[in-house]
Amino acid sequence: MATHLDVIGNSWTGQLYSGGWHRSKTATDLPVLDKATGELLTETAEASRDDLERAVSLAESAQVAWANTPPAQRREVLIQFAALLKEHQDELIDWLIRESGSVRAKAEAELGMAYGEALEAAAMPTQPYGSLLPSANPTTVTSIARRVPRGIIGVISPWNFPLILALRSVAPALALGNAVILKPDSQTPICGGLFLARLLEEAGLPHNVFHVLPGGAELGSALVTHPAVSTISFTGSTAVGRSVNQAAAPLLKKVILELGGNNAFIVLDDADVNLAASCGAWGSFLHQGQICMTIGRHIVHHAVADEYIARLSERAEKLPVGNPSTETVALGPLINDRQAERVHQLVHDAVRSGAQVVTGGAGSGRLHPATVLRGVTPSMAVFRDEIFGPVAPVVIVSSDDEAVAVANSTEFGLSAAVHSASPHRALAIGKQLRAGLVHINDQTVNYESYIPFGGMGSTGNGGRFGAASSVEEFTEWQWITVRDTPTEYPF
Ligand code: NAD
Repeated sequence: MATHLDVIGNSWTGQLYSGGWHRSKTATDLPVLDKATGELLTETAEASRDDLERAVSLAESAQVAWANTPPAQRREVLIQFAALLKEHQDELIDWLIRESGSVRAKAEAELGMAYGEALEAAAMPTQPYGSLLPSANPTTVTSIARRVPRGIIGVISPWNFPLILALRSVAPALALGNAVILKPDSQTPICGGLFLARLLEEAGLPHNVFHVLPGGAELGSALVTHPAVSTISFTGSTAVGRSVNQAAAPLLKKVILELGGNNAFIVLDDADVNLAASCGAWGSFLHQGQICMTIGRHIVHHAVADEYIARLSERAEKLPVGNPSTETVALGPLINDRQAERVHQLVHDAVRSGAQVVTGGAGSGRLHPATVLRGVTPSMAVFRDEIFGPVAPVVIVSSDDEAVAVANSTEFGLSAAVHSASPHRALAIGKQLRAGLVHINDQTVNYESYIPFGGMGSTGNGGRFGAASSVEEFTEWQWITVRDTPTEYPF
């Protein structure tokens, strides 16, 4: 295995990955910035529509050969890729810290998830991919159902967990014999795509099978409506997911949507309040609250509300905020000034409508302190909308039924958690929640590469990621019958 990867600022300088490292005449420069300091980290290329056309035509011819490559060879590419992820983990973690504003713990966790995803994908090429069916005439007809690759998969991913949210589609889609065109968010093109391209190239993946085209909404939209791209795997906001779904509908294209969340965290009157506050703080403030599974609403029984708010606030106050690449901090920067302003505005509006800031509140630029709000009501935007910032709104309820009603009262349905000394009481509540992921006595930010990951309601359209689910999403059925000799029909 090669060990000479010069991943930082070399292969991708001024280039994108499409049929090898490449820059067309129509590509433009794409600066990549450190999110804490605004410093220029590198400059890569933003793809044009011409680049997309070229990528599609290269991928079309490469996909069939890749699907027919012996499964053990496809597996080997993914095994090598997983090994390279480990080998280059320190570089990748540094990139995650600087390019996406991750604190070290989040970057390390993301790397670990990516490794798990690569191993799961490596097991896919050699699994059975169909079944021998009974047939009307068993002595003369062989009847087979098999899963076949979907062709070219377009992957559109966000900036918050750029590595894993790209890889959870890219790795299984490739393992199962598809070609992939990945459009990472233009704020995180390195961890979200070009780093993967470099490692997959080194692992032996043929060049034309995988393409990374950094770009924004216009390029994403062109990928969605390209007739040769059979499937779109989109992770991002609910608003953009809706428009992706609409744009793909006339083409009858399969669209896998994993969208926004506003996750309920319920604390019952018999909960261990201190441990609940620990879970509540981690689930609200990790990665500055910029996770689809972040706790968006703390729904707390009035008997323990004062104590819970005090404990949560004590924890929040202790969390240092700063530059994660130069300081030991619990919270790094928000992704950009626009998002920082939005978080500030949501807190301001909540206070104007009667909520109280218990701790935190005003930020400084992209640095926003962990903030706890009490007196939040379901009519406030800070309750209804996904905040994507380090803000913990607390809503006080009087019964288990009210907790369920409040939890289910937004359009989202990704993750939820319930705390109680009685796991079965909590489970009874958990079963009534409209959420794809439910945790009893834990927080909401949990990910494993082999579970059926996904949400209900406006969090998606029913697709799921994770080993068995990914096979469903990235392949389709084909029924084949074989007769020894043709049948003679009545006419
Ligand atoms: P976003 O919707 O703004 O962007 C996501 C991606 O879509 C980016 O690559 C962007 O360039 C692209 N895009 C934008 N407009 C497009 C268009 N018209 N057509 C095609 N592509 C387009 O989301 P974001 O702000 O980058 O990410 C945060 C959101 O993602 C949050 O809502 C979060 O909850 C959600 N998210 C969901 C999951 C999940 O698994 N459910 C995971 C992570 C993030």
